[in-house]
Formats: sequence, structure tokens, C-alpha cells
Amino acid sequence: SWSSSDSVISTDSSGEPAEPGSPYRVVLLGASGVGKTAFASIFAGAADTTTASCVQTSCVRGRLRWTGTRPPVTLMDTWDVETESDWARENFLRSADAFLLLYSVTDRASFLRASELRISLRRFRPAQRTPIILVGNKCDLVRRREVSASEGRTCAAVFDCKFIETSAAMQHNVWEAFRGIVRQLRLRRDSEEV
Ligand code: GDP
Repeated sequence: SWSSSDSVISTDSSGEPAEPGSPYRVVLLGASGVGKTAFASIFAGAADTTTASCVQTSCVRGRLRWTGTRPPVTLMDTWDVETESDWARENFLRSADAFLLLYSVTDRASFLRASELRISLRRFRPAQRTPIILVGNKCDLVRRREVSASEGRTCAAVFDCKFIETSAAMQHNVWEAFRGIVRQLRLRRDSEEV
């Protein structure tokens, strides 16, 4: 995974809220192999795709900055959260503005892992309306599916977050997921300004 770098930890895990005007920090979370790197690559390659022709991206030491639209977003792929210290992990999770919580529809264990991560997030960030989208990736692998869409939807409802199924391989719904998280960040910002 290209961004499992210490630079992400050292520059972005201070636990301090983002400065005004700095990009929103959106973190990709999920078990190994669910497609986080594939997601990040699509985001990074946005300048080459027609879907995102209005979006510029640049890759800064494992961090991806989306500069073409407002509000700008820094997308951060996560390192293997299991192997990090609790301190580093908690600070990283606290410093994020929003999460894309990925599992693979072909891997039930990754679905259970997503639930565990959701519970951890609730512990680190109590009483905050942190935008989270539960993402069931690899929906192109129809014959290997282990988690139905309705299970995903139900889980998202229980966890009070949005839900989408995607295929990074087919580039299906990936931008909808990014757009969804930006929409939620905007809604949250607007409601805070009122
Ligand atoms: P990560 O460990 O979460 O970063 O997962 P990766 O992005 O490295 O993906 C793990 C494997 O799944 C790679 O071989 C990817 O090519 C593959 N993969 C990722 N997303 C999809 C998808 O939507 N459909 C299919 N068929 N394969 C995918």
C-alpha cells in the first residue's frame, strides 16, 4: 500500500483540528485487501479521467490533495492499524474529518472488521457528527459475494452512517462515494455556521 508511510503519521496525527482553510482530511479505513489502495489510486489519477475532469490532484508524500473543487480534500490511506501503537492510531483517527469505511462484499471477515472499526470510531469521537460512509467494495465479483447489499444497508442504518456499494476495478460508484463524503462535510460545515 503506497501510503503506509510514517510521513502521514508525523504530519497528520497531531490530534489538532485542521486549520481554517486547510483541506478536509478524509481517511480510508478497512481490513487489508478490501481496496483502499485501489480507491486512493482512482483519486490520485483523477486528472486523467473524464469523470473528474474539473478536479486536479497532486500526490504529496503519500497524501493526496484534491485542489480543484471546494472544499479541498486530503485523502489518506491508512497503514495497518493493527500494528501501530494505540497512541498513534488514536491521534490519527481523531485528526480526521471524515471516514470512508471499506469492506469487501466478497469477504465477510472484512465486513465484521468494518463494524469493529465503526465502534472504535465512536469511542474516539463521541458525540460528534463525523461523516462516515460504509463502502461495500468489489461488487463486480458477483459470484464471490459473501455480504448482501441489504446486510450492508442494515449495518449502515444501525451505525447511523451512509452506505454505498462500489467496484474500484470497474470504477463504479467510487466518485459517488467521494462526492457523498464531501456533501456531508459541507452539510456539517453549513449547519455549524448557522
Ligand atoms: P488494500 O489492502 O485495502 O489497500 O487493498 P487493495 O487496493 O490493494 O486491493 C486488494 C486487491 O483487490 C488488489 O488485487 C486489487 O486489484 C483488488 N481489488 C480492489 N478493488 C477491487 C474491486 O472493486 N473489484 C475487484 N474485482 N478487485 C478489486
